[in-house]
Amino acid sequence: MHLQAQEGLMSTFRTGWRSRSAVAYGLSLLLFAFYISMYFGGQYGLPDLWQPLAEAVGLRSKWFVYGLVYTVWMLIGAAWYLRQHGNSRYNQARIGVNVAVQVVLGFTLPFVMPLFGGTEYYFSYFWPLKYDYLYPHTMWSLPWYLALYGVVMAVFTAPLAAVFFGKRWYCSWVCGCGGLANTFGDPWRHLTSSSTASWRFEKYAIHAVLGLAVVSTGVIAMHQMGMGEGTLLVPIAQQTKIWYGFVVGSILSGVIGTAVYPVLGPRIWCRNFCPMAALLGMSQKLGRFRIRVKKDMCISCGNCTTYCEMGIDVRAYAQRNQSFTRSSCVGCGMCAHVCPRGVLRLENGAWEQAEDKQLQGLSIIDY
Ligand code: SF4
Ligand code: SF4
Repeated sequence: MHLQAQEGLMSTFRTGWRSRSAVAYGLSLLLFAFYISMYFGGQYGLPDLWQPLAEAVGLRSKWFVYGLVYTVWMLIGAAWYLRQHGNSRYNQARIGVNVAVQVVLGFTLPFVMPLFGGTEYYFSYFWPLKYDYLYPHTMWSLPWYLALYGVVMAVFTAPLAAVFFGKRWYCSWVCGCGGLANTFGDPWRHLTSSSTASWRFEKYAIHAVLGLAVVSTGVIAMHQMGMGEGTLLVPIAQQTKIWYGFVVGSILSGVIGTAVYPVLGPRIWCRNFCPMAALLGMSQKLGRFRIRVKKDMCISCGNCTTYCEMGIDVRAYAQRNQSFTRSSCVGCGMCAHVCPRGVLRLENGAWEQAEDKQLQGLSIIDY
């Protein structure tokens, strides 16, 4: 029984389903089964459960069934999150905006616009996360203003906003993947590994996927613009489109990305494989965002590291009085929220603070 409105931090470790028990593994298996049936139903000999259901309830395709389920998971998760951590205006605003973006831009508009003769378009997803939005065939099929919006957001607005505000503006306020992780996935945030091995894997994996996204988009664009006819470019582009979609678009972002929440934590996709996170992380490293550590106040309790969904060892920075910018930080604010001493503060003022940090002999930017 909870005697307070906010649950204590230790409640995390009392409940088996949040601590890699058999129930947690069972939940993970259920999520795997759901994602396999959603992505691959009707192929590889698997029954198609979702398309007939979509048609029966008046949704255009099985992807709107998925969108509806996804949105409901986010709403339930948001209620959970706010019950746990809602005693902070940052948390209230962040989760409120993230859920509203999903409801309006991630589900309702794409569903409703075609009913009025418009185009099904997801305004909250940009290349390289929505990798086909920069393919020439996709752009030619869109009204010019939507094609232009996709290009401007991907190559200019999104990276520039990350320079000024950090990647949190997208990864923690707008993106549906981050939104699901921060709501539905919140009960398992403490399971994210902060080991050195996981950090090394993350560095190589996420930049490899970004590289693949850039190369595959280039190759597919050349092919779709009619270049390289009669050469190897054509089969390479065709296979690249199929395999990038299968491995990154389906397996890593969908099946693995979400199904492992109950055993490996909620940001496996965002941390290790999302090319958008990699791109915005580079902007963040060069920009103003940082987590400021107040000097000589840390009592080394470790709450910040435990609750960091990106596996960053925040305590190590706090113990060294070292303010930091990590490209993987999504600016969720949980490290600051759970710190009993108010040691940590998220801020967008790194440029102004750079001189102070140099005087202290601290690195201004860290990976
Ligand atoms: S360092 Fe803090 S703000 Fe950044 S991802 Fe971890 S918990 Fe969130
Ligand atoms: S920064 Fe705060 S939460 Fe992190 S170890 Fe120090 S006192 Fe604990």
